[in-house]
Amino acid sequence: MTRTPVDVDADDAVLLRRSEQARTRGDYREGRRLAEHVVARAAAAGDDPPLAEALRLVCNQAARLGDLEDAARAGAEAFTVADRLGDVPGQVEALNLLAFSYLQLALFDEALEAIERSTARAVALDDADLRAATFNRAGTIRSAMGDFDEAAELFDRASAGLTSRDVTSETRFCLLTNTADLVLNRAYSGRPVDAGDLRRGVELSGQSLALAEEAGNPYRRALTLLNRGGLTSYLDDPGPARRDLEAARDLARTHGYRSLELGVVEAYAMDALRRRDFEAATASFTEVVRTADALNDATVLVRAQELLARCHEELGDFRGALEAYRRFHALQTRQRSEAAQVRARLLTQTVELQQLRSHAETLDRQAHEDPLTGLRNRRSFDAALPALLAGAGDGDRVCVCLLDVDHFKVVNDTHGHGVGDEVLRRLGALLREDVRHQDLLARIGGEEFALVCVLRGSAPAGGPVDGVRRRLDRLRRKVEEADWSQVADGLRVTVSLGAVVGARPDPDGGGELLRQADQLLYAAKAAGRNRVVARPVSPR
Ligand code: GH3
Ligand code: MG
Ligand code: MG
Repeated sequence: MTRTPVDVDADDAVLLRRSEQARTRGDYREGRRLAEHVVARAAAAGDDPPLAEALRLVCNQAARLGDLEDAARAGAEAFTVADRLGDVPGQVEALNLLAFSYLQLALFDEALEAIERSTARAVALDDADLRAATFNRAGTIRSAMGDFDEAAELFDRASAGLTSRDVTSETRFCLLTNTADLVLNRAYSGRPVDAGDLRRGVELSGQSLALAEEAGNPYRRALTLLNRGGLTSYLDDPGPARRDLEAARDLARTHGYRSLELGVVEAYAMDALRRRDFEAATASFTEVVRTADALNDATVLVRAQELLARCHEELGDFRGALEAYRRFHALQTRQRSEAAQVRARLLTQTVELQQLRSHAETLDRQAHEDPLTGLRNRRSFDAALPALLAGAGDGDRVCVCLLDVDHFKVVNDTHGHGVGDEVLRRLGALLREDVRHQDLLARIGGEEFALVCVLRGSAPAGGPVDGVRRRLDRLRRKVEEADWSQVADGLRVTVSLGAVVGARPDPDGGGELLRQADQLLYAAKAAGRNRVVARPVSPR
């Protein structure tokens, strides 16, 4: 398959959409690559919303490709980011994906814990699709653990939500598939399954196949064909069963769905076992063991090794059976200790990653924040100004205001530098109270601050400059009237402000506006300080 390089100029939203499109058509390698690109970029920029979505896409697609530890790491981080954002649907999605990765890694306790946390959140949400998807995922976990009755109950709860038209075709597909899969799991576990259940499973698979074809997703088609082939085998219908399984195998090989390919071999092995064709079953289980070992699929490996032992026994090869049972027990022990190792590895890496990220965040903050006031520094102000101005629309005005403390040298000289610092700190807090979150506020010099805002839509009575002047004068008074005697006896603090209001930002990214605001600040100082001078921007 040819790979074009990731278009690095495309913004996060475009790459995420392309990743999602690749996922929908089952091209998980491409989808994962695109999402990983966004993860790297958004993490570096500290941009959480695209980071959370990209991590979910990585988790989802890495799991489909069989890279389970990568998937689990991405899922865990996706949850951390969604948690930080307070994004509950994002948390539920991340936990569902994480639970799925843990399940594939045979970390059942972790899978259950994740899905329980997810369910607790999902039931409180007014989101039929997410709720159905969560119950469905919980059912899948129970089904894989052999808790078939609980699984059936969870699938029922998920199905109850299907009447809502908000439930997506993907969720419907998953639910149909997993309900059919439950019948197959029950059969594979050796429990009695009646023909009615099997036929019902085949019928559900037919429905999910139609949805998979509608979505044009080869992974889903392969998965459904695998299930239907397995179920049909139990109905003693070898022709159609083989056709389904071979079609599933072809799709899995073409697209690199290694775990599905393994599923096909396992289905043949189970079928031979059921027909008591132990020669064929031995050959197939030997292949399952080899492939599962290569894929690190411990669950399938242990299961196949045990059945291989049984085949030897049935064939009267007791020495072979003994050997196979020994391997089975050794694997079981290894699986437990490996699960513990995977657990430890995932935990360490998550902790390390969090430390790295928080270190990067600290550095980033230090580079952009003024340590005394916690406001943006000059560098951050310069970086943010052009984008803020460019965001102004045709009917909008922009206001650039500079504020400088009056006779601050005297404050320092009279009360000491420590008091001067405290004045700046309090002034920063006062200003912060007064600006909207979309405004740009920064400490751009020793005792000089800048405030830039975009005034949307129609101007207030008296024109935009009057509005700005009134607002800034309230701010000026607030500074003057603040109780500065808390900081030092007899301390008084006033500020002067120069502001320019323009219809359109100048093309040099705000440089001209700043220059004019500075002139007006100077005019305010010259006119006696403790005042506001605001004007419309003058033509150059
Ligand atoms: P004007 O009304 O004309 O603005 O007079 P001014 O005294 O405020 O202006 P000037 O520019 O002469 O002095 C600014 C003073 O601000 C000088 C400098 O020591 C002090 N300053 C600058 N940064 C800090 C700081 O971080 N902390 C303290 N305490 N003082 C600072
Ligand atoms: Mg000053
Ligand atoms: Mg100054």
